Amino acid sequence: MVKVDSRRGVWSSGPSLTWRLPLSRLEECRLDVGGEGSISRFQRAEVAVNEYPKRTRTVIVGAGFAGFHAGRTLSRMTKGTMEIVQVNPTDYFLYLPLLPEVTGGVLEPRRVAVPLAAACPGVQFLLGTVVEVEVADRRVAFVDPDGGRKALDYDHLVLAVGSVDKLLPIPGIAEYAYGFRSIAEALYLRDHMLKQIELAQTADADERNERCTFVVVGAGYTGTEVASQGQLATLTAARRCPGGLGQPVRWLLVERAPRILPQLDARLAVAATRILTERGVEIRTSTTVEEASARGVRLSDGEFVPTRSLVWCVGVRPDPLVESLGLPTTSGRLVVDEFLSVPGHPEIHACGDAAAVHDSTRPGELTPMTAQHAERQGRCVAHNIAAAYGYGRSRAYRHHDLGFAVDLAGARAVASPVGYPISGVPAKVLTRALHLLDIPDNRARIASDWLIGALSPRQVVQLGLVEGSAVRLAARVERPAVPAPRHQDRRSEVAREDN
Ligand SMILES: Cc1cc2nc3c(=O)[nH]c(=O)nc-3n(C[C@H](O)[C@H](O)[C@H](O)COP(=O)(O)OP(=O)(O)OC[C@H]3O[C@@H](n4cnc5c(N)ncnc54)[C@H](O)[C@@H]3O)c2cc1C
Repeated sequence: MVKVDSRRGVWSSGPSLTWRLPLSRLEECRLDVGGEGSISRFQRAEVAVNEYPKRTRTVIVGAGFAGFHAGRTLSRMTKGTMEIVQVNPTDYFLYLPLLPEVTGGVLEPRRVAVPLAAACPGVQFLLGTVVEVEVADRRVAFVDPDGGRKALDYDHLVLAVGSVDKLLPIPGIAEYAYGFRSIAEALYLRDHMLKQIELAQTADADERNERCTFVVVGAGYTGTEVASQGQLATLTAARRCPGGLGQPVRWLLVERAPRILPQLDARLAVAATRILTERGVEIRTSTTVEEASARGVRLSDGEFVPTRSLVWCVGVRPDPLVESLGLPTTSGRLVVDEFLSVPGHPEIHACGDAAAVHDSTRPGELTPMTAQHAERQGRCVAHNIAAAYGYGRSRAYRHHDLGFAVDLAGARAVASPVGYPISGVPAKVLTRALHLLDIPDNRARIASDWLIGALSPRQVVQLGLVEGSAVRLAARVERPAVPAPRHQDRRSEVAREDN
């Protein structure tokens, strides 16, 4: 026997099963109402269930900021009454904002990896990459790391696939530049930088110059943080070379816009420029890279910079899976309504970098591709799916930007909490506190790494775990085949210019 509350759906508590049904699925469940008659919309009744329907299944594609928080919130709200399956190529949620600290040798790589199985109880995690979404049949196909192809039916689909590096048609970039989005890339860059300094000791003057020069293209928050962390790590390595290197270590931060951190408050850019310039980082604004080769890069001002280290932080575009759906996109992001559902497909939801969410605080604009929005949009999607089954109420997405923090390595940072700019040590303290509050796990481990880092010198060692060929930009774009787009929105070529 079960209790029926037809305003909220069916709540059943059998000996071995507990589940809840939405009103829309009442007819799928054959109910015998005690005595005669049927259940009216507002009637409570005791009925016998003759046939148990399948639990509703929500499939979440991607476990980044948006997908992780969507899965965790949905699981907490529905308390096991819904089947939640999450597909992601790694078994962890990567906390990207702390990745530059892995390259700088400040944090161990596992600190920025939040294990999905432990952090999201109630969510079934599947290792794989979704390669096809059959919208009409409500099914996704995914490929596991060993190449096995599998399919999953869904009642609700959450697309939280994030973004990928944006490649520009500049000669040599795909072959010679390194991206910065994964632990492998962060570890590789760290080893590569240290190797350049170690090999420079025995090199001739030209080779030494190439090895001691590092170029980061793109001075959004990623490029600025990578250059800051990288410079301090290489300076430490250089200081430890007996007899010195015979030449200074040179870092260039190249930005197409007239200032660094172009998407952030101009006051942060001024403070960051001052801090980095004092430290010796060369900042080249209104400049682009025109060509890259194994021995250097040519800049748009005509200068040839000899280097063997080119880091590409120019921007991102939404994951190509979005285009393959054949659903409307804006700037390559999936069009959603204010409840983050795809118009005409209430069963498909999107959030994070992959979703074109209108920014209620800046009419006519989309929400920026930031962790702050992705995380909140993931939670919003979870609330709206849960509301369809009687758990809470659906809500439109609204969020006022809370400001931004950029870690400049060492004891310096710049930040704009609720629009008020600060820099230096107070900004650093705030930045670290915000990360500790935001990361869902590993807090004690991160705090202990920071404490040890403050009390002892930086550890300068190469681990040699990642091959360069695996992390070139050209390698990054290779992934399991995504079917050709059915309707491709030409505007999808336009991608975010910073990250
Ligand atoms: C180095 C770096 C530093 C950053 N620092 C900051 C910062 O300080 N502050 C800030 O606000 N933002 C920062 N960002 C941006 C922020 O991280 C992104 O806006 C945010 O991660 C977007 O969240 P998301 O969930 O949409 O995508 P992601 O976090 O990128 O997650 C997408 C997930 O989907 C998975 N995926 C992709 N395709 C598929 C598929 N086909 N099948 C299954 N899974 C798939 C990916 O592997 C990934 O796990 C940074 C970004 C980078 C790269």
